[in-house]
Amino acid sequence: MRAPSLTADYVIVGAGSAGAALAARLSEDPSTTVLLLEAGGPDRALELHVPAAFSRLFRGPYDWNYDTVPQPQLDGRTVFWPRGKTLGGSSSLNAMMWIRGFAADYDEWAEVAGERWGWDALVPYFRRVERTEDPADPTQGTDGPQSVEHQRDPRAQTAAFLQAARQAGYAVTAPNLPRGQGFAQTMVTQRRGSRASTADAYLRPARRRRNLRVVTGAHVRRVTIEGTRATGVYVDIDGITRQAVATREVVLAGGAINTPQLLLLSGIGPADHLAAHGIPVRVDAPGVGANLQDHLVAGLAPAAHGGTLFGAEGRGELVRFLSRRRGMLTSNVAEGYGFVRTDVADRVGAPADLPDIEIIFAAAPYVGEGLIPLPAEGLTVGAILLRPASRGTIRLASVDPYAKPLIDPAYLSDPAGTDRATLEAGLRVCLGLLQTDALKAVTTGGWVQPAGGEHMSAEELIDTSIRRYAHTLYHPVGTARMGTDAESVVDPELRVRGVEGLRVADASVIPTVIRGHTNAPAIVIGEVAADLLRGH
Ligand SMILES: Cc1cc2nc3c(=O)[nH]c(=O)nc-3n(C[C@H](O)[C@H](O)[C@H](O)COP(=O)(O)OP(=O)(O)OC[C@H]3O[C@@H](n4cnc5c(N)ncnc54)[C@H](O)[C@@H]3O)c2cc1C
Repeated sequence: MRAPSLTADYVIVGAGSAGAALAARLSEDPSTTVLLLEAGGPDRALELHVPAAFSRLFRGPYDWNYDTVPQPQLDGRTVFWPRGKTLGGSSSLNAMMWIRGFAADYDEWAEVAGERWGWDALVPYFRRVERTEDPADPTQGTDGPQSVEHQRDPRAQTAAFLQAARQAGYAVTAPNLPRGQGFAQTMVTQRRGSRASTADAYLRPARRRRNLRVVTGAHVRRVTIEGTRATGVYVDIDGITRQAVATREVVLAGGAINTPQLLLLSGIGPADHLAAHGIPVRVDAPGVGANLQDHLVAGLAPAAHGGTLFGAEGRGELVRFLSRRRGMLTSNVAEGYGFVRTDVADRVGAPADLPDIEIIFAAAPYVGEGLIPLPAEGLTVGAILLRPASRGTIRLASVDPYAKPLIDPAYLSDPAGTDRATLEAGLRVCLGLLQTDALKAVTTGGWVQPAGGEHMSAEELIDTSIRRYAHTLYHPVGTARMGTDAESVVDPELRVRGVEGLRVADASVIPTVIRGHTNAPAIVIGEVAADLLRGH
């Protein structure tokens, strides 16, 4: 039997947050053919759809299962970096927090990539994406494919966290305001209590279209380039390498780690690095794999009285979830958050009225990078470094397309030490919140992590929490950044500089990480890319 054709107008690599949205939008036009290649398998497994189970997916078949290189500022530890490997990509594995960031974040994108990427220009795209329950602001959409809901059964401790914020003098506001956001209960990418990935939101409604072909288990090896034009990709399907042909364009949507890896394997990257691996240089593009930014989080996990998600493993909870989509298993774990501006922001002259730390709250002790089951009743109050000054890299370890690339976020490496100082200030805010009556009432005075925390000074708690336990909040961006300058990897229309017929549409193009979470902007990038390809 002949294998079906792998020729389409557009070949899209990766069915993640951005790729799924892009493929669905392009295939709305029945005269356009789209081939969506996804390395992972289908997303049928129950644990992909049970919100509280997300960390159970780590290091499993739906995870690319990366680790960073040793991080000198974190006691030389490697840090576990999960990434989704299935339909929906990381939106099938993430913590479902819908936090769009601030208008100012996108206005900063516009400064380097033009007005198309500024907040005012992107509002129609956010509205196009979102189906928001009880929108609090006119910029929030209500009839898009991506459902954004309130949590169905948040823990009582989450209300205590918000009360603690009030007691500590912070504002509690509606979530996802473009300006002036305070503390809030997390809104989640769920539909009636189940995860709503971009595979659910975008691909399922599109699956009957004859002009959209989605191939799972399709690992792309590299882009094929003739002269200066991308013509398709080499892809392994069922153990056979084949060429998929794009009659119009190839779009890379493999995420902030795999997209730069694919560009490098295709001969697009820093010439010296390519030469070191014996890869012929198609385009000397120093920006590929550079500019890596991620959100580092350092958490404190005090012991708590009963009623936390520690009880989520019980059989009763599974029955409640399966029968009514209720109970602890509908929790996204990180049920609350809030934005704060530390004194460090003023000291370093950060833009006025914007936060430098996000406080994240989990009604469970999120310890061991999420890799170990919850050990006890406890909470997590953590500080996220929102705007790191440190910059890292993605580099090839090998020319083997199945070899994991070298990931070096270079956490806390900025010479001025602003990142470390800011994170310390954020942890002081966490300690202050833990001292409020509201959180004292739900905690015991003991500690889950750091163990023995009750015998540590504030400075010891802060230092241990950073050096021993800080980990990723899973938001890598920037490794194929867009810009109007010649050193940017893609231009403002997402075209890879130096090659025709090749674009990037995923979190790699983000020039500076937002003060928010990265699923929303990744989906928006997919939507904008669809308009760019359609010539709108
Ligand atoms: C554990 C975790 C928790 C997170 N929590 C949140 C959260 O609560 N809120 C939030 O906003 N963000 C969160 N994020 C981040 C957010 O999910 C990502 O920023 C976003 O999904 C990135 O979208 P993307 O399109 O760039 O890449 P992805 O969604 O990762 O998609 C890339 C796709 O490309 C495929 N692919 C890669 N290489 C190849 C290849 N060679 N051939 C074929 N296919 C390939 C991958 O399998 C994947 O499906 C989290 C991420 C993780 C991992």
